[in-house]
Amino acid sequence: MSKSTWQHLYGPVPSRRLGRSLGVDLVPYKTCSFDCIYCQLGRTTNKTVVRQPYVDPAEVLDELEQWLEQDGQADYVTFSGLGEPTLNSALGEMVTAAGEITDIPIAVLTNGSLLWQPEVRVACQAADLLIPSLDAATPRTFARVNRPDSSLDIEQIIEGLCLTQQECPGKMWLEVMLVENVNDSREELAALRAAIDKIDPDEVQLNTVVRPPADHDARALSASALQQAEHLLGPRARLIAPLDARKIMVAERERSEQEVVELLRRRPCTLEDIGIGLGMHPNEAIKYVQALRARHEIKTIERDGKDFYIPSD
Ligand code: SF4
Repeated sequence: MSKSTWQHLYGPVPSRRLGRSLGVDLVPYKTCSFDCIYCQLGRTTNKTVVRQPYVDPAEVLDELEQWLEQDGQADYVTFSGLGEPTLNSALGEMVTAAGEITDIPIAVLTNGSLLWQPEVRVACQAADLLIPSLDAATPRTFARVNRPDSSLDIEQIIEGLCLTQQECPGKMWLEVMLVENVNDSREELAALRAAIDKIDPDEVQLNTVVRPPADHDARALSASALQQAEHLLGPRARLIAPLDARKIMVAERERSEQEVVELLRRRPCTLEDIGIGLGMHPNEAIKYVQALRARHEIKTIERDGKDFYIPSD
């Protein structure tokens, strides 16, 4: 199988936290228990809390084995993708099996909404790194920023995060996504700080809206507001550093235009993101980008002074 025909894998994509991250998709677009106002994937089309197999674990593992043979270079294998991975009821089986066939660390990116369920915590136990998000600690702000399934309760979610940190041996980096005038008030940050102290994660990573969001009113915090939030959220909080291309050593190689389009289907990217994700120099990436733009297969959108590319359809 050629790299451009993976059904369940994508990238490796550039990640500000994980370096080069091979993505593993476990749910169809866009299946999630949240519909966050900042989501870079657009609006949730299947909002659910029902866990299902969604994809065949044998197919996913077969692709991963082939990728390891053909390429096999990444800093993390990351279960994330086009929605919420813990909605896949075979997550634990796949995380465990992936850890048995590669030494590349396994990460799970989750919105944390289902970790109050014991079976979801068990599913995460074989991961080397868990990156759950927590954007609010009060019901009102939770509803505003995450637009969750109506059955979800923020106090129960925080309790689930506490139990996860106690039960799962991997590291936990808690991500807080801050949106201007939505979850950045002093009161909300104080409630978040109390939740963080209770959860006791290994790290708290502060992020703000840098990619085109689902809701165009979702705006980034200024650098000074972010620094203030970092201070208010306590000593474990740190701003996520900008992607540093120089740290990611990638052999340059030819990639097809189709691979660029597939990458952009997963997430809007800058030219630099495309270059790092596909292992090519930005000067090479721009050739593909220009050709695809000339054929109207991709287009540019501007966000906070940066050009991001997305598919035209
Ligand atoms: S940001 Fe993550 S949790 Fe929020 S809607 Fe998008 S996929 Fe779901």
